[in-house]
Amino acid sequence: MRKASVTAGAVVLGMVVTAIVASPVVGERAEAAPTCRGDRITVADLATGCAVSTGTVVLPDGRRFAVPAPGSTVSALPVAASGTADDGDVSITNAGRAGLAVRVDHAWTGSAAAVRQERDALRSRLTATPQAATASKPSSCTNTTFTRLGFHWSAPVTWRYNPTGQKVSGAATIRSGADAWTGAIATCGRKVTSSASERFAGNTTQATGVTAAGGCGTSSGASVVGWGSLPSGTLAVTCVWSRSGVAVEVDQRYTTGQQWNTATTCSGPRFDLRGVATHEWGHAFGLGHTAQNSGLVMKPAATTCETGQRTLGLGDLRGIDALY
Ligand SMILES: [Zn+2]
Repeated sequence: MRKASVTAGAVVLGMVVTAIVASPVVGERAEAAPTCRGDRITVADLATGCAVSTGTVVLPDGRRFAVPAPGSTVSALPVAASGTADDGDVSITNAGRAGLAVRVDHAWTGSAAAVRQERDALRSRLTATPQAATASKPSSCTNTTFTRLGFHWSAPVTWRYNPTGQKVSGAATIRSGADAWTGAIATCGRKVTSSASERFAGNTTQATGVTAAGGCGTSSGASVVGWGSLPSGTLAVTCVWSRSGVAVEVDQRYTTGQQWNTATTCSGPRFDLRGVATHEWGHAFGLGHTAQNSGLVMKPAATTCETGQRTLGLGDLRGIDALY
């Protein structure tokens, strides 16, 4: 099932784009900050400390993000196919007059004041983080690692499915991926009861907030899962918007650029939708990536027909138990 090695033809699992609505800004400077706006705000622009209320931030890798509302954060966690470069997890926090803080994996850029503020806020939300993801044995029932994205849900995730352009009829399969994390979970000889929950509210024609470039658009307030183009090598992307560590919306987009399997068994050059959805919902519920060789659901990349990804490993189980 899972291999630590890079496999040609494997595809990035998915990305979670999380939008964390940041905490209220405190202690910022009293003087007016310069502003910047437009449809191409760069991290160099943000480094000037400009306050931003509208527009689009363009990262050096080309991903674009609608500026989140002041006091909020939007993050994008990509999942790639094995053998494909991982664009990295992105988190953009609008700290109001302190400017915007941008985090790509563990590197921060943007406004220095906002970076200081958000780094402290994130640290305080993650004080209980048990373990960083480290390379370990590639066996899902021996690797205990997990990482947290810094948000959780305080209510069931109510979501809708947009079948427009779907490569396969996917709602039930994607929901199975969500339910791998909810209720009574037994895996690796252990059992936990997770309070994470989801409620499928039916189909919708509303578009997801995930963009074709793998970034996040604006928050709509409604959680939508759908299909569409994504960068080559990216299987899916999840965007989450949250406020002071509490998630308020999750959108997912599954790529129409690959073939997908929804059957119990899988063969051929297809990606297993349930396995990839399990990974995406792990992000949706607040879990980040583990090492690729961790053998866990939350490793960053998947290969074709990786049906083992449907089942939580030990670190995945510990992660959801720690959050819920
Ligand atoms: Zn991922």
